[in-house]
Amino acid sequence: MKNSKKTNAGLNRRDFLKFGALTGMFAGASGVASACATPASNGNFAGRAKYIIFMVSDGMSHGTLQMADLMSRRLHGRPSKWIELYEQRAVTRGLMDMTTGNASVPDSAAASSSWGCGHRITNGNVNMDDNENPFEPIIPIFGRHGRKTGLVTTTEITHATPAGFTANVQRRHMQDDIAAQYLEREVDVMLGGGRRHFDPDVREDGQDLYAGFRDKGYKVALTKAELGQPNGFGRVLGTFTERHLPYSRDHENTEELVLDVPTLAEMSKYAIDTLYASGDGFILQIEGGRVDHAAHSMDATGLVYDQIAFDDAIRVAWDFYLQHPDETLIVMTTDHGNANPSLNAAGSGYNDSDPFFNRLQEFTYTNNWIMRGLNEDSSVADIVARVGTATGLDFERDHARMLQQALRGEFQAAYAMKARPMNVLGGLMSNYTAVSFTGSVHTADYVELAAAGPGSETLGPITRNTDWFGLMLTAAGIEIPEMRQS
Ligand SMILES: [Zn+2]
Repeated sequence: MKNSKKTNAGLNRRDFLKFGALTGMFAGASGVASACATPASNGNFAGRAKYIIFMVSDGMSHGTLQMADLMSRRLHGRPSKWIELYEQRAVTRGLMDMTTGNASVPDSAAASSSWGCGHRITNGNVNMDDNENPFEPIIPIFGRHGRKTGLVTTTEITHATPAGFTANVQRRHMQDDIAAQYLEREVDVMLGGGRRHFDPDVREDGQDLYAGFRDKGYKVALTKAELGQPNGFGRVLGTFTERHLPYSRDHENTEELVLDVPTLAEMSKYAIDTLYASGDGFILQIEGGRVDHAAHSMDATGLVYDQIAFDDAIRVAWDFYLQHPDETLIVMTTDHGNANPSLNAAGSGYNDSDPFFNRLQEFTYTNNWIMRGLNEDSSVADIVARVGTATGLDFERDHARMLQQALRGEFQAAYAMKARPMNVLGGLMSNYTAVSFTGSVHTADYVELAAAGPGSETLGPITRNTDWFGLMLTAAGIEIPEMRQS
């Protein structure tokens, strides 16, 4: 790892308050200027945020937010928490420009790094420029200043979004290295999936990182029971699955998963209570990471219920915020759109849209679960039965035949990515749910951003992603490190 100090922007915290976020000094590929373009509205927030909770629903297009609200009203007779906060005008709301160093369409590594280190870097990199020059990310900076730090996610804990606040690697797939950096950098609380990057039997270098964490005094938990209840401050690494945690809908309908794997809301509560108990202040990133995966799969069931699980985590975090409103900066956002799903018109006078969407309430398993039971040898009857088990639908034989063709690699679609078997199933399901997707990949949309607490008052109608680095440090009263130009 080289460490060449190139250009030093040389602004201090006072300059930040005067000019807005330092990081906006650097031009990205395109897009929204930083707060530099506008007079800084107010510096009174400096040093006031003892607690920072940064919440990311990964790959959340606008329609995802809206459909989770529709479903919450159906299931629970209440809006989603996120939308309720809008209704109550309890948060500052705007858009965010997530452009990365090389692309209008971000990947999660560069996106999270833009918040985590204040630079727009190349998609796939984690807090590094293309010449392996690292940018120190925000979690180790907070750690150096005596604050507690935490990561919670439904993906592998070493995945791109948590890594973007914590690690420096050239490419995001270097997850064994990311795990080793978590040990070295001593993130206080880590809860999610991804055992394979800690387990000596699976890691490529054979290192036993679990032993390493135990030696440093960490509690290591592999199940919900081993995690237990928070009991004062204590460092903890909880990895509850080999890879990602299950989709919420599959999770809640599979007995052994309910027993062994905590929900995102449960992990969030554990992390907040534990970090708070230290008395030192903290920064915590909470990610609903599989919303993105469901969008990639054009899977409405996975998508809506994982967004609701994220919303449950917002409820937990918001309860904490309400207890410490003057000292807590809370942020709710996403790193990029994905597949732009939405509830589409169906039927004469659009009368079928709602009853079709209502069917999602009866679906007990995701499309991902359906596909796990099918292969190129599956018969039409197998497919009809499998879809029926997961959804209760009377799946038409013509539809099953199309999926069978896709499974055999014989299906063609006008938009090539829609020929993948998973996406063919996603497209077919649109006929039953009225939820449709433009594709199965990330999008360039400006994303939803909501925040409350010290610093949130500075946000305008549109925010540049890199502004968060300086904003969070300033809110926490930590001097912004000297920045290098990437
Ligand atoms: Zn993605």
